[in-house]
Amino acid sequence: MRIAIDLSLCQGYAQCAFLAPDVFKFVGQEALMYVPEPDDSQRQNVLRAAAACPVGAILVDVDDVAGAR
Ligand code: SF4
Repeated sequence: MRIAIDLSLCQGYAQCAFLAPDVFKFVGQEALMYVPEPDDSQRQNVLRAAAACPVGAILVDVDDVAGAR
């Protein structure tokens, strides 16, 4: 799976890092790092993180979205 984060939306609430710590990590107080192509075993965690993000900044399966256009 492929994910992306719209960093112009991200407010650093860190729900994603709490729900999918193997995919999203904070470095220092504000720098969010993430795995852009997480293993499919992380799908449930990533979907939970995307649903929990208060600003909808986590985009899941970005290739599928782009391919549908
Ligand atoms: S939950 Fe959303 S707003 Fe919070 S750090 Fe993650 S991507 Fe950013």
